[in-house]
Amino acid sequence: MISHVLSDSFGRILRDLRVSVTDRCNFRCVYCLPETDQAADFYRSKFDAVKNPTPIKIPLPPSKPRSQILTFEEIERVVKIGVELGIEKIRLTGGEPLLRQNIEVLVGKISQIPSVKDLAMTSNGFLFHRKAQALKDAGLTRMSFSLDSLDADNFKKMTGRDGFNEVIRSIRLAKSLGMDPVKVNAVVIRGLNEHELGDLVRFAISEGVQMRFIEFMPLDSNRGWLRDLVVSGKEMLTRLKTEFELEPVSGSLPSETAKRWRVNGTSAEIGIIAPVTEPFCGHCNRLRLTADGKIRTCLFSLIEHDLKGMMRRGADDEQLRTRLREIAWLKEARHHIGEAEFKQPERTMSCIGG
Ligand code: SAM
Ligand code: SF4
Repeated sequence: MISHVLSDSFGRILRDLRVSVTDRCNFRCVYCLPETDQAADFYRSKFDAVKNPTPIKIPLPPSKPRSQILTFEEIERVVKIGVELGIEKIRLTGGEPLLRQNIEVLVGKISQIPSVKDLAMTSNGFLFHRKAQALKDAGLTRMSFSLDSLDADNFKKMTGRDGFNEVIRSIRLAKSLGMDPVKVNAVVIRGLNEHELGDLVRFAISEGVQMRFIEFMPLDSNRGWLRDLVVSGKEMLTRLKTEFELEPVSGSLPSETAKRWRVNGTSAEIGIIAPVTEPFCGHCNRLRLTADGKIRTCLFSLIEHDLKGMMRRGADDEQLRTRLREIAWLKEARHHIGEAEFKQPERTMSCIGG
């Protein structure tokens, strides 16, 4: 394996590193960290419907102690080495990345690394207003916000928190600061927000943001995912086409996870991300670094590769480069959702870094 880029055994070159900066979160999304009675009731009603005895509520995953979380210097070091090996895109995520103290300092460090072509963050938006200007000044150019509902009650049902107004305010603030594009992600769940697809598109048109609709994946902490709760990308598109004239956007990169459409008569663009029903594994070019310093080669990996231990034991950059190349080589061919052998990873989306 002689290569100066991060390539895997299936010929994919890895260019995209998602960095989770914390495993903590201030929201309790029904598809990620469900905790509220409303979330439990929702799952209970679905499980009763399929007579499935799976438990409805299990304790939330414990957060790692601070000493186990990578420092900014350690994250910067991994990013620099990744970039030397061909990584071009960095996305900061979590957990909720804005819970990490002084996150703008990390943004500043990463934005100064030559060859980082794209630096973005995914956030639930609740705390964005506190840091927006500092993040922008530090070099953050793109934001993605999660917003699953435009109805404040349904928003609370889906996120477990009262935060609708704050999130809307954050989206507007990011736009007003000139972040471009501002993306808005909605996980679409049968019986919860499938009826809001059209409203979310109208919102995107009026606010000048890009909407992304995402299929529900089995990465929730209570293991309540059911195939019946997934609204497929195909169904989302069919529903949207009853309300809007959509034109496919050409020129997407093969590694893009979203299939994109322009809403006719507007400048708005929407995307549908369908990892469950239309997997894009063959073109996946991502690696993930967890907050506690593990590399994951797939969202659904059952094993993780420790870099933190190596760094703290004194590994030099060449050793880290070699290890990162070895890890990349092990990237799985694809996920196995829907197959008999599928096993949900132990860690949830909030710990892996979505
Ligand atoms: N807390 C931030 C947020 O929610 O934007 C960043 C982390 S969150 C894990 C990143 C993305 O993962 C969000 O867009 C969220 O909607 C998505 N996500 C979380 N759990 C998911 C699931 N089970 N299926 C599909 N997407 C999920
Ligand atoms: Fe928190 Fe994001 Fe998970 Fe919601 S999706 S619980 S905001 S990490």
